[in-house]
Amino acid sequence: MCARIRFQALTFDLDDTLWDNHQVMVETETGHYAWLDETLASWQRNQGQAPARRFAEHFPLETFLDRRRELAAAHPLRRGDFTWLREQALQWLLGEYGLEADAARSWAGAAMDRFMLLRHRVTPHPEVESLLSTLGRDYRLASITNGNVDIRRLPLGRHFPVAIAAGELLAPKPDARPFLAALARLGTSPAQTLHVGDSWREDVEPARRLGMQVAWISPHVDDLPLPAGIHRLNHVRELPGLLHSLGAEQG
Ligand SMILES: [Mg+2]
Repeated sequence: MCARIRFQALTFDLDDTLWDNHQVMVETETGHYAWLDETLASWQRNQGQAPARRFAEHFPLETFLDRRRELAAAHPLRRGDFTWLREQALQWLLGEYGLEADAARSWAGAAMDRFMLLRHRVTPHPEVESLLSTLGRDYRLASITNGNVDIRRLPLGRHFPVAIAAGELLAPKPDARPFLAALARLGTSPAQTLHVGDSWREDVEPARRLGMQVAWISPHVDDLPLPAGIHRLNHVRELPGLLHSLGAEQG
C-alpha cells in the first residue's frame, strides 16, 4: 500500500541552502580582484608601460562595490543581475584607469572568467549529493537562485532538470516570476510543490504567497510558531524527515 504523494516537485535555493556561501564569496571577491591587479600589472610591464599606481591601489575593492551600487541604482531592471553589474563596473573602472575601451572590455571579461571559476568552488554539505539523488527518484527538482552560480557547472547539476537564474531573468527573488518559471517548466502547481530556502524575504515569503509550502533552512531561530505551510529546519539534511512527516513519501 502506498501513502499519498503530496508533492510532485521540490524547488531549491542554492547559496546557504545547499552549501555555506560566505567563505567562497569572500575568496571569490578578493581573489579575482587580486588576479586582475597582478595580471594587469604584469601585462603593463611587458608592454613597457608600468604605471605609477597599480589598478587596485587606484581603485580599492570598496570602490568596486560602490560602482556596482551606482550601476544598480542607475539600471533598476538589472539590479539583480550581479554578473552584468560586476562586468560593467570593472569596465568602467578600467576605463578610468586609462585603458582603451577594447582593452577595458577584454580585461573585464578575463576578470569575470576568473570570478566565475572561483565562484563555483563551493563545497556542498556532505549529505546533499545523496539527498538529491534519493529525492530525484520521487520528485521533480528545480533550482532557483539569485546568485551567479550556474548549477550546471557543478556535479550536483545533474539532479536538476530545471535551473532558474533569477538575476538573468531580471526578476530576482522575492519576485514571483522565477518561481512561476520553475513551476511551469516542472509542469507542476504551487500546491504540489515545496520550496527549500534560507531567506525569509527571498524564499519563504514569495513561495508561500504563491501557495507553495516551504522548508525554511534557519538554524538560528527559536521554535516560534510559524504560519501554516512553513516548516523550519536547522539544516537541509532534515528535509527527508519533514517530507516523511508531511506524508509525502511513498510508503
Ligand atoms: Mg540562499
